[in-house]
This record gives sequence, structure tokens and C-alpha cells, in this order.
Amino acid sequence: MSLTFDHWIGGRSVPPRDGGRMSSPNPVDGTETATIAVGTAEDVDAAVSSSAAAASAWRRQRPIERGRLLMRLAAAIESHAEELAALESAQTGKPAWHAPMEIASSAAYFEFYGGLVNSLHGSTIDLGPNHHCFTRQEPFGVVGIITPWNAPLNQAARAAAPALAAGNVVVLKPSEYSSATTLVLARLATEVGFPDGVLNVVTGDGAGAGSALVKHPDVRKVAFTGSVRAGQQIGQIAADRILPLTLELGGKSANIVFADADLSRAVAGSLNAFVLNTGQICSAGTRLLVQREIHDEVVEKLVEASRALTVGDKLGPVTTAAQYAKVLEYFDIAEADGAFAVVGGAALSDEQRGSGYFVPPTIYIGVDNTMRIAREEVFGPVLAVIPFDDEDHAIAIANDSEFGLASGVWTTDISRALRVADQIEAGQVFVNTWLAGGVETPFGGYKQSGYGREKGVEALLHYTQVKCVTVAL
Ligand code: NAD
Repeated sequence: MSLTFDHWIGGRSVPPRDGGRMSSPNPVDGTETATIAVGTAEDVDAAVSSSAAAASAWRRQRPIERGRLLMRLAAAIESHAEELAALESAQTGKPAWHAPMEIASSAAYFEFYGGLVNSLHGSTIDLGPNHHCFTRQEPFGVVGIITPWNAPLNQAARAAAPALAAGNVVVLKPSEYSSATTLVLARLATEVGFPDGVLNVVTGDGAGAGSALVKHPDVRKVAFTGSVRAGQQIGQIAADRILPLTLELGGKSANIVFADADLSRAVAGSLNAFVLNTGQICSAGTRLLVQREIHDEVVEKLVEASRALTVGDKLGPVTTAAQYAKVLEYFDIAEADGAFAVVGGAALSDEQRGSGYFVPPTIYIGVDNTMRIAREEVFGPVLAVIPFDDEDHAIAIANDSEFGLASGVWTTDISRALRVADQIEAGQVFVNTWLAGGVETPFGGYKQSGYGREKGVEALLHYTQVKCVTVAL
């Protein structure tokens, strides 16, 4: 069954001004899932105006009151978890076991920031007896949030919860391929008592609605999650506007396995690191650096483990037709550059994939860190394995990347783990695990993986600006 969604502006469904609509297929079987409004600059203006009108009352509400509403929204997400998980699966292709986990963590963002909002406070600065000086953490006003398709509700919640907690109002522009759950989120916010306009959603594509949101003069901050390409385009507009940004971009994260590691844990964790969400995770561990003496053993065990992954059941499809084509293109690129696929590396047969965008888990060996398969983000279940000789060599390869989002270290030597963690250029380092953490842990990139932080106390502060008040006594 296909659903039709309008924008959500001022606490109600609002059809697109020019009537533009689009739909995207279910990546599992090609059926239509939802039709959304294609927003124009006029629609964006209506949403921003509605949010701007709600801004003053929202920021003046006592934080504990805002926090209560966030907690109520968390509860509403939980009580609608089944509906949300079904929509998320239909639009992104996430298997039935996976989508509920993302819905639960979406609720957790509102729960976490609903409590944390009470910890927002300034400081006093001693200027001697003749002055009283203090700081305040103030909201920006209207925050524009633009999200991608790989974890739609999760990314919307990750950015919107701290922004709202800090007293900002939000206009969200979700990915045109997966807007449904973000629209339900806004409806639920209205149902639990959020004032009209505090959380608006405008749908549509990046060139239209996305770009209009970044350009809108009443938008005071933008939080963007997506590709480096779009991040650069947004950064150019922001440079002209002196607009503060949070940029969460791509990655080619290095996962380092030393010979002294517990190999069964390292293999299981390293598999998960590149196949979870069919590799469509910005912080996927897609460069596996393995100490030379255990290279063949690790590769053999990984191949065996990846063969046990049933495509369709444990491993969903990639989400869009363009992404499917991109993964296949990287199979050709890797082969042409001289890498060798020990598993996967070619399109599945029509019989295996039906009408879905399924691709096989793929592991390349014979990879040199200069090859494109080692440098560029594929955003699919594709791993490049690179041998290293010693600690310094591993660190050098890991840091030889334009990206710096996540990294992993597998070793039983805690001193080595901490030495490597210290030297890795990445926003996250996982030791003997991959993707551990939760709403509490700050998340973001070094280098071209972006700047600013989501999650944790850090995100709450990122959605505020500091005002210093000095009084002569
Ligand atoms: P994308 O950049 O094409 O689109 C992301 C969002 O930006 C969409 O809503 C899109 O409509 C919008 N957009 C595109 N161009 C725009 C423009 N010029 N101005 C304003 N908005 C624009 O990315 P995608 O293909 O949807 O997502 C995949 C990418 O997202 C990958 O590179 C991945 O690494 C990255 N990502 C990063 C994180 C993180 O937290 N670091 C998380 C998830 C995904």
C-alpha cells in the first residue's frame, strides 16, 4: 500500500504550493511505498516563517518544560514503534530485525536530551569587585536540519532532539527517498503537545528544498548529514551567509587488527563493521588493516563468516537505484585497479536479487592504500583488506585518508590500544569492538568527514551560542 504525505508545517499537513510530488520504490521489490511533496523555495519559506513565529515562546519556556515534551515524544515514538519500523523498512529496505533498533534509538535521543536540557547553564567570570559577569548558552533560533536516507528517523532525531532541547525551533528536510518516518515524527510531536511550528518538515530534493533551506535568511544554523559533495555545496552558501554549520559527512574508516588480538572477536566485529545496514553507514569499517602474519587466516575466517550472511534476510538491499549502480561501478573500479575479490565483487543474478537492489558482501585483497577502493566511500557492503607490518605502519596507512570518522583497534595489549587511539586521526576510536556507544557518546568527524559533533552533551552545546553579560556595579 502506498501512502501520500504532504509537508508538516504549523502543526498540520500542508500540500505543496505548486502540486509537485514524487515517489520512490521499495528497494526490496520495487513496489511504490510513499508519495511525498516536492518542496519549492515557497514551501520552505512557509515552514521557516511558521518556525520563526514559534521561536520566541519556545526559547522562553522553562527548560524543564521543554524537556518534558521531549520525553513525551520519546514515549510516542516507542508506542508507534511498529508503524515507524514498517515504514522505515519499506522505504530503505532495512530487514525486519534491524529497523526496530533504529526506532528505539530515535526515541532514546528525545529521552536523553529531555533530561539533559536541565544541565544547560552558563558560568560566572570574576572581573573583580566592580563588575558582575556571567555567560548564557542561548539558542540560535531557526535551525535547518538536512538528513540522508541510510538511517532516516535516527538521523532526524539525532539532530532535532538536542536542537529543540537547547531552545531552537527546527525545519527538517529529510532525504527525498525516505521522508515518511520524519513526517510521522513531526505529527507525533504535534500530538504530544509541541506548539505549532516548533518542528516543521518540508520534503523534496536537495537542489530545491534543501538548498532553499540553507539560503533562507531566517535560518540561523544548519546541521547537515550526507555526502561530501553536498556538504561542500552547503558550505559555499554558508560562507557567504556566515552561517554556522554542523557537517556529518562520509568516511573510509580504518579497522586495525593486530596479531595479538582475540581473532574470533576481531573477525565477528570486523564483519559487522562493514556489512551492518548493508554497509550504508558513514562510520562503517571499510578498510581492514591486518598485521601481515595473520592476514591469510583473518581473510579466510571473514570470507567464511560473510558466506553465512543470507542476502535478503540478514543483509538487506542498498536503498536507491543510484546507490546500487554505484556499488556495481566500484566492483569494476576495484578489479581494474588490480584488487582481487575473494568473495562477492559482481552483481547477483536476476534470480538471486529479484527486483531488489541486493548486492553481495564483498572482500578485496591485494589492495594498496592508493587504490580508489581504499580511498573512496562506496556505501555498500564492500571491504578492502590491507596488510601492515607494525604499529607505525598501521597508523600511517590508517591516517593516509581524506576522511577521519571512525577507527577500530583489535589487540590484547592495552598500552598499544591507547597509543594507537592517541595517534589515529578520527572522531571515534573503538577498541576491541565496533560502533559501541549510544546517544550519550559524541559523534563526528576529522578532516573531510566533517566538523561539529552530534550526540552526547557536546551536541547540546553545538546548538547554542554563548552570550557574555557584564554589569558594572
Ligand atoms: P546526499 O548528500 O546526496 O543527500 C543528503 C541530504 O542532503 C538529502 O536530504 C538531500 O536531499 C540533501 N541535499 C543534497 N544536495 C544538497 C544541496 N546542494 N543543498 C542542500 N541539501 C542537499 O547524501 P545521501 O546520498 O542521501 O547519503 C549518503 C551520504 O551520507 C554518504 O556519503 C554518507 O557517508 C553520509 N552520511 C554521513 C553520516 C554522518 O553522520 N557522518 C551519517 C549518514 C550518512
